[in-house]
Amino acid sequence: MKAEIIAVGTELLLGQIANTNAQFISKKLAEVGIDVLYHSVVGDNAARLAGLVETAQQRSDIIIFTGGLGPTKDDLTKETIARCMGKTLVENSEAMEQILAFFARRGTPMTENNRKQALVIEGSTVFPNDHGMAPGMAVESSGIRYLLFPGPPKELNPMFENYALPYLLSLSSDSQVVHSKVLRFYGIGESLLEEKLIDLIDGQSNPTIAPLANEAEVTIRITAKTDTTQKADEMISEVEKEIERRVGEFIYGYNQDSLHSVLVGKLKENGLTLSLAESCTGGLISHLITNIPGSSEVYAGGYVSYTEKAKVQALGVDPALTQKYGTVSEEVASAMAVQAKTNMSADIALSVTGVAGPGTVEGKPVGQIFIGVATATGEKVYSLKLSGTREGIQLRAAKYGMYYLLK
Ligand code: ATP
Ligand code: MG
Repeated sequence: MKAEIIAVGTELLLGQIANTNAQFISKKLAEVGIDVLYHSVVGDNAARLAGLVETAQQRSDIIIFTGGLGPTKDDLTKETIARCMGKTLVENSEAMEQILAFFARRGTPMTENNRKQALVIEGSTVFPNDHGMAPGMAVESSGIRYLLFPGPPKELNPMFENYALPYLLSLSSDSQVVHSKVLRFYGIGESLLEEKLIDLIDGQSNPTIAPLANEAEVTIRITAKTDTTQKADEMISEVEKEIERRVGEFIYGYNQDSLHSVLVGKLKENGLTLSLAESCTGGLISHLITNIPGSSEVYAGGYVSYTEKAKVQALGVDPALTQKYGTVSEEVASAMAVQAKTNMSADIALSVTGVAGPGTVEGKPVGQIFIGVATATGEKVYSLKLSGTREGIQLRAAKYGMYYLLK
């Protein structure tokens, strides 16, 4: 199957935003073996978009659109595509309910143009929008599949992953089923992981094994293609067992899991509470954990103890320790975790102190991170030497912290 991506939006042409949607979708399609042969960008202009659709119809089996599904006048993707295939737009009741519920929650009346967001092309498979109002959709016409997605990545990305990929995997010209499973790794780099699995990766064509590094993590997608779902799952499970045998200690989750969602789940399962003392991660771990609904059952709270004063006065770390060893030290990481645990009567506490850069701190190099874990049985401190940008170091320090708690 040959696919192409058409991104709609004048702001893309003006250089105000980058076409990260095409990048995201291409990566996802590559993982499941769908070839993307063209990327195009067009402004919010019906005639030019229709011209591009005509070209795409000559060369692609799947045409993917992003952007222009919103309520305003310049959002014209659905209308234009429907016209190109001679179809009409119909109201989707689930989407309408979602829009009404959104305005009800906000306590403001719905403006008439918002009704437009609930319209889908007739005969569509509708992809719910779990993070916004306009649903996505897939529709077939003359053997070509048209998939339409909202522009904002925070709406598109989960929609693509959760609804569109399964839809695309279920289409295959030879009526075979395609199933895939993502294994999520932490604490191992992409190159080492690949080295340990290279014979499997190179030797397998069905299932395929595709490693991918993203957001400081490595994932492997196993994709099997056969005639029944059960057989596909068996094929996946066989490969998965071999991967587990070799690098299982680094697997923290599957498919949609994240370190923070798995952590919250594990804490719930074990009936444990967690508190945090974050220095160089500036509350990032707290933010990630509180993104998970229901985290209040297990997350007691935390400190952003960024300065020495905050570590001593707010958290209660012994100033003799910060003076003797420096705030970026094993001793202070350990004391921070102990204080966070005690102050909040939590079962477990995690602390992070380190140098995110670009400058050094107390003579400690950029990337030096200490992570403390305090539990009922005592304290443990991990030392990490990370490299990269300030943001990258912060993200990886936060993820390592959560990974150590899961170990
Ligand atoms: P909305 O309901 O927000 O109007 P929409 O589906 O109509 O969504 P657009 O109006 O085209 O989408 O774009 C909305 C926003 O989504 C843009 O301002 C931009 O931030 C983001 N966006 C749009 N297209 C892309 C793209 N190709 N890559 C990355 N971000 C994009
Ligand atoms: Mg819009």
